[in-house]
Amino acid sequence: MTENTIENSGTTIQFYAGLKTIGGTIFEVKYKEERFIADFGMVFQNKEGVQARPQAMISELQAIGVIPKISGVLKTDEVDKNATIAISHLHLDHIGLLQYVHPDISIIMSEDSKTLYEHLHTIGEEPNVDVERQVKSVPYYQPILVSENIQVEFFPVNHDAIGAAAMRITTPDTTIVYSGDVRLHETDLDTANLPNIAGSPDILIIETTNVQEEFLDSNPVIQSEADKLIPDLLEIESPIVFNIYHRNVKRLEILIEAARQKKRMIVFEPDTAYIVQAFNLEAPHVRYLIDEQANSNISVQIQKIQSITIDEVRDNFSSVWFQSSYHHIRALLDLPVKGATYVHSNGVPLGSFDPTYAELLEWIDKLGMEFVVLGVSGHATATQIKWLADAMKAKVTIPLHGFTPELLKGPNQTFLPEKGVTYQLPTLNKMSQ
Ligand SMILES: [Zn+2]
Repeated sequence: MTENTIENSGTTIQFYAGLKTIGGTIFEVKYKEERFIADFGMVFQNKEGVQARPQAMISELQAIGVIPKISGVLKTDEVDKNATIAISHLHLDHIGLLQYVHPDISIIMSEDSKTLYEHLHTIGEEPNVDVERQVKSVPYYQPILVSENIQVEFFPVNHDAIGAAAMRITTPDTTIVYSGDVRLHETDLDTANLPNIAGSPDILIIETTNVQEEFLDSNPVIQSEADKLIPDLLEIESPIVFNIYHRNVKRLEILIEAARQKKRMIVFEPDTAYIVQAFNLEAPHVRYLIDEQANSNISVQIQKIQSITIDEVRDNFSSVWFQSSYHHIRALLDLPVKGATYVHSNGVPLGSFDPTYAELLEWIDKLGMEFVVLGVSGHATATQIKWLADAMKAKVTIPLHGFTPELLKGPNQTFLPEKGVTYQLPTLNKMSQ
């Protein structure tokens, strides 16, 4: 073989999403015909957000840029069995498009992610995936061949989603480490240990969510979720209405613990109560709301948590913390919520980039509640990301998943890929448009 043919049959990489945005991440590593796709996130939410799921819409969603033009893996495609999708963690910007994936494509994720994914599937949050057949779990620290020449190894990292993983992707000519999303609190030893176990790759692909101008020179001490949130919650004397994100199981635990300390009853919607039970977080002061419209299939599975009716909640409202998902916000019309505190705790709509966020604020205002945002970033600070990138000692650092990735400089070469371009690895020369 000439050198030229060797080069052309070597590893390539292409980025479909996640460039200059904190929206969905998707990139593909290819060796010969073998394809390894890392994450499959929602690129951009349309008005219905995550609720839009009919299959017939795939081509329309591609036309408006919600689904990238990626071949051979979507339900409407002729399936390419050489492709595998690997998931770093269960946030929607990393898995939001799995519902459109062809049933013959394997999806791999960490064991903890798979456990949570199954529960989310049960409550209807991750529909249209044949979890049993299609989703496989991968143990940490164990290299797995996903195809003849592509190997992946998962490493645990800390993030505000259970089961979060970084991955090292090895092909015959390149080693790539992908950080996934990472947090680096003092106790986040898994993230801190990543350079020791996966350092010195050819390429590091690293998230840059908090790498923004205003954060570059500050290195705020970020307290752990429990240390920050429990005291903040305990200070609130009024009844609390809150939203949360199921994928942050730790946050559920913190809310339940804070309510216990405050001697309040905490009331969850049935779907959330199901997750509470699935992770053994039930307690005497936890209730689930009887909801006629809810999936009765779920309610019958909640056996370890007592139920409560909306009338009972109303009668005891001053001693209740009450969950209110945005799509159930009308339930608040039946409750004396005037003067209550609405605690936004990372539930959807998450922020002003989501068009329904303004509507949420309007509801809260009309209902006479005080709005408080209580959360802890799941992402390392700019300074910590810089530390991590340096410690990883990659030959090439590719900053991703941030509004200003260009502000991160790796210890050696730093490379900013363009969307839709195929690059040859490890040189990163352009192969095609
Ligand atoms: Zn994330």
